[in-house]
Amino acid sequence: MIYLDHAAATPVSKKALRAMEPYFSEVFFNPSAAYLPAKKVAADYEAAKATVAQAIGAKQADLVITAGATEANNLAFTVAENAGGKVLYLATEHDSVRKVAEKFGGKEIRVSKSGVILIEDLKSKLSDEVVLISVSLANNELGTIQPLSEVASIIRAARVDRLSRGIKRPLYLHSDASQAMNLLDINVARLGVDLLTLNSAKVYGPKGVGALYVSHEVRLSPVTVGGGQEKGLRAGTENVPGVIGFATAIREAKAHVGGNRKKYAVLRNLLLRNLEGFELVNKKHSLDNFVVLCYNGIDAERLIFMLEEQGIYVSTGAACAASKGEKSHVLAAIGLSGSEINGSLRITLGETNDEEQILEAAKAINAAVANERARTHHG
Ligand code: PLP
Repeated sequence: MIYLDHAAATPVSKKALRAMEPYFSEVFFNPSAAYLPAKKVAADYEAAKATVAQAIGAKQADLVITAGATEANNLAFTVAENAGGKVLYLATEHDSVRKVAEKFGGKEIRVSKSGVILIEDLKSKLSDEVVLISVSLANNELGTIQPLSEVASIIRAARVDRLSRGIKRPLYLHSDASQAMNLLDINVARLGVDLLTLNSAKVYGPKGVGALYVSHEVRLSPVTVGGGQEKGLRAGTENVPGVIGFATAIREAKAHVGGNRKKYAVLRNLLLRNLEGFELVNKKHSLDNFVVLCYNGIDAERLIFMLEEQGIYVSTGAACAASKGEKSHVLAAIGLSGSEINGSLRITLGETNDEEQILEAAKAINAAVANERARTHHG
């Protein structure tokens, strides 16, 4: 198997798996129980949360553990419910941001042809009613890295301006960093974000675990109510093994950021040098592990099936949209035509890949494309 879809899922690292194991069996206790072994589990859980927080330069008390990034994104938007205001979000956000933003009548901020936020568009839409702006740190279809610090400084200036005019409505910046943690050294203060989504499933931790960093002045409403866990914002018995695995994985991810960037830049260049007849879609501002190729006039879905037959797994875009046969809103937002979108292939590199695999994959992709070109030409 040559797996080239690490933006969709990453395998759980051996270290994370080993760290999780005892919490499924020997030390399975409910952290809320009163006896000593359960209290020990509660302490391990809190320590794991502190490790996750440290990875982004935050404190344990600033984190709400959730059942994945979707839930963290949904939780972040409850700020709009509380503060009673409008929301803005980037046109290329993941559906877990778009769909919840739509619930609050959110407006899209447009992106450039390379997928980067159009600052002028943000400024023109930033009215006094806006309470939340959501801009992902790195896009899940293109890998585009957004200039978050620049967005944060615009927000700071808008806050000062509001205050000077006696307007009390707060203004917060949320960022979905699901795809970024393996390749960027994330620090919430440096980024200037008030809310940040993390996703265990993309950093070689278990699925169904995530976290929302919440700066202390932000007021949220619960996504689930019940036993009052996670400061009452996300009730339900804690996923102890999941969070232990997440902490182990995110610590490893943080330690490997520099090495990963070098490794993926080499693999990405090797792949691009060995492929033929494509347009590179994500030329600029991209995470090094994303390669988005456009074979205009070809049906990329057919390429995917042909490659799958040889044990090579790639994607057309976000896994959830691809499985429903929906056209990518991300590729549409950067101005690709319908036929260019149909011909686009997303390759996301990860820990499982090496140079030999990349060369083999490039050969198979070239052959599949040649095959398709010949078929459509004659047909
Ligand atoms: N946000 C981004 C950028 C993603 O890539 C994903 C994963 O597909 C999600 C959110 C949703 O994560 P999950 O399905 O783990 O809740």
